[in-house]
Amino acid sequence: MALCPAEAAHTLTYDYETLVAVIGPLSPEATALGHDMCAAHALRWVPPQGWELVRYRDALDGR
Ligand SMILES: [Zn+2]
Repeated sequence: MALCPAEAAHTLTYDYETLVAVIGPLSPEATALGHDMCAAHALRWVPPQGWELVRYRDALDGR
């Protein structure tokens, strides 16, 4: 599920047990829990209140 028209570069997933949102490399397959986003969005994105954000190193380096 894409969040914007730009080419997706990363996938955001939520872990509802630990309240951790993870931005990692683009997932090869679409899942109900994965939200694809472009590089610009991945850099700007902030988690909802109460959530912790983890960025994979790949997600920072990928352009
Ligand atoms: Zn975007």
